[in-house]
Amino acid sequence: MVLTSSKEDPSFPVPSRLLGADAEVKDDNPKGYPRPTPHITSTDEYLTLWKESITQPDVFWSRMAKDLLSWSKPFTQTLAGTLDEGNVRWFADGELNACYNCVDRHALEDPSRVALIYEPDEPNATQRITYGELLADVCRLANVLTIDYGLRRGDTVAIYLPMIPAAVIAMLACARIGCPHTVIFAGFSAGSVADRIHDARSRVLITSNEGRRAGKVIPLKAIADTALESCPTVEHVLVYERSPVPDPLPAGVMTAGRDEFWSTALPRHRPYCPPVPMSAEDPLFLLYTSGSTGLPKGVLHTTGGYLLGAASTVKYVFDVHPGDRFGCTADVGWITGHTYIVYGPLSLGIATTLLESVPTYPTPARYWQLVEEAKLTHFYTAPTAIRSLIRLGEHWPFNSDLSSLRVLGSVGEPINPEAWYWYNDKVGREQCAIVDTYWQTETGSIIISPLPGVTHTKPGSATLPLWGIDVAVLDPQTGAELQGRDVTGVLAIRQPWPSMARSVWKDHARYLSTYLKPYPSYYFTGDGVSRDRDGYYWIRGRVDDVINVSGHRLSTSEIEAALNQHDHVAESAAVGTSDPVTGQCIFAFVTLKDDDVTEQPMAIEVKDLALKVRTMIGPFATPKCILIVQELPKTRSGKIVRRVLRKIVDGEADSLGDLSTVANPEIVPELIKVVGVSD
Ligand code: ATP
Ligand code: MG
Repeated sequence: MVLTSSKEDPSFPVPSRLLGADAEVKDDNPKGYPRPTPHITSTDEYLTLWKESITQPDVFWSRMAKDLLSWSKPFTQTLAGTLDEGNVRWFADGELNACYNCVDRHALEDPSRVALIYEPDEPNATQRITYGELLADVCRLANVLTIDYGLRRGDTVAIYLPMIPAAVIAMLACARIGCPHTVIFAGFSAGSVADRIHDARSRVLITSNEGRRAGKVIPLKAIADTALESCPTVEHVLVYERSPVPDPLPAGVMTAGRDEFWSTALPRHRPYCPPVPMSAEDPLFLLYTSGSTGLPKGVLHTTGGYLLGAASTVKYVFDVHPGDRFGCTADVGWITGHTYIVYGPLSLGIATTLLESVPTYPTPARYWQLVEEAKLTHFYTAPTAIRSLIRLGEHWPFNSDLSSLRVLGSVGEPINPEAWYWYNDKVGREQCAIVDTYWQTETGSIIISPLPGVTHTKPGSATLPLWGIDVAVLDPQTGAELQGRDVTGVLAIRQPWPSMARSVWKDHARYLSTYLKPYPSYYFTGDGVSRDRDGYYWIRGRVDDVINVSGHRLSTSEIEAALNQHDHVAESAAVGTSDPVTGQCIFAFVTLKDDDVTEQPMAIEVKDLALKVRTMIGPFATPKCILIVQELPKTRSGKIVRRVLRKIVDGEADSLGDLSTVANPEIVPELIKVVGVSD
């Protein structure tokens, strides 16, 4: 690695540092907010630890596991199994309980410490829940599940709840009694809920009477009832009262013998229940991927390795310290919510935020008001949220005091430089470190990311691998490793790491064929990547989305980053379609910033957009067609679903595939129309 050592005073963590000629490094902290000494203080220290984690993973990870987690039975083994055989296990003879690690040990130390900051949909109603209160409710619920519903270790529980404390309580209660949970995002329809419950064969469903989002009511219990018509395994439904229930209750709302309210069940039980010691390799949860590229996969994570990945990345990637207040805007229905709202922050005993609302309700200042009110030290969101906020106007962060923030994170898609700079300048005010964190549902925790104040950053690059991540860039066709710098290929990993997924639920063959067989001896991510001359990694989007124009392999991310440079463009998506001359040609879809849509619909010239790509990448990359549309198809976790656009462009709109993971399928007819007109 050709990294220069950081020269900074370690007691003074610094904002993101840019490499290159236009680098602007600001070390000052004019507001004087107290900043702790970072855990890692220099690139040399990072490199030494990273090398140890690769050459002596046993030594490295057993030290980390003892340092960060409490074990009821110490482990004597570390890694066993191989990627080739698909039988990886970590600390398999050790025992621990994830709930004990996330709740009890902190409640024992200080029950009055804040664990959850709950920001309900309704503004100005923030609530705080302490570790002591969390422990009591988790235990009461654990007692309901075991004593009243007869759940045994290994039974699965489905959780279909909005972003409310009950969701965290439910996950932790399951972990406490050894019942793997499957959290189903509260935006899913009855069919998707039924598929997931059915797949997991859950005996219990935990839901709520309603959800609230931007003032709208979502009838969760009614949706769950429809789903349950085809889920005979479910014996009990526990219903949290998110809003007052009518008295008397209309007939049919609750099914006798099956359904009961949270407020009836929990008070029956004492606020303690012993945690069940689990093997490190016992399943902790199963969770479905976002479905950006096809049918979602039910990914299985185990207890010890997953928790270690969660705790170690929160500690080092976000440089978390006691007393910090972590704010992650994901939903608990996705892996980011699991790892960076629940298990990561709580395992370290800090406060974590549950944001039930949307970033624009009641105004696009919602996030920033929350940061000020809760004095958040960390803020973690997705490029799609950043781009949608830019679209609504640059000024919204300006009226809030954001000086408590130290680290800003991005996850989910490559962050285009324009969004990166806005985040850095307008939200971070050049006082925060920006961490572009690359990972997947299957990796369990972040695997490539800068370390705050240590790694010099380059907007758009996730930079360098974390502990234990041995990155390889492979030639997609031959599978040979591309050595050295300035190479582009597919992203693979050479060695097992603790938080990697162990299987696909009830389909181990799919696990092997998706991740371990495509390139034998490697874990295959499915993403394209470049390693630049400094050894930095740039995620190039899905391998399936690569566009080949006249022999040039172009990634969606580079074309989109160029289009997003245009002042009026909010977001863009590029797809390839066949072309008789060039093999493939590029079709691009763009959405405009709001002012442009309403005030000057004709202000944007398509040829200016094409010119951006032409000048930034090269003439061969000029899109053949650029279409301005109202919205792009997105997954429910906010990612652009290019496969739908590709099908439309290819004239295969009648076979769009699984649309259950697309949050806005209603835009599809408009897209078909726009593409049809352009032909
Ligand atoms: P599916 O696997 O069902 O198609 P998905 O891959 O979108 O869905 P997730 O596990 O939620 O489901 O997303 C992981 C993917 O998100 C990664 O493989 C990568 O493509 C993308 N991603 C996540 N973080 C980043 C990042 N910081 N930079 C670039 N891409 C990212
Ligand atoms: Mg994926």
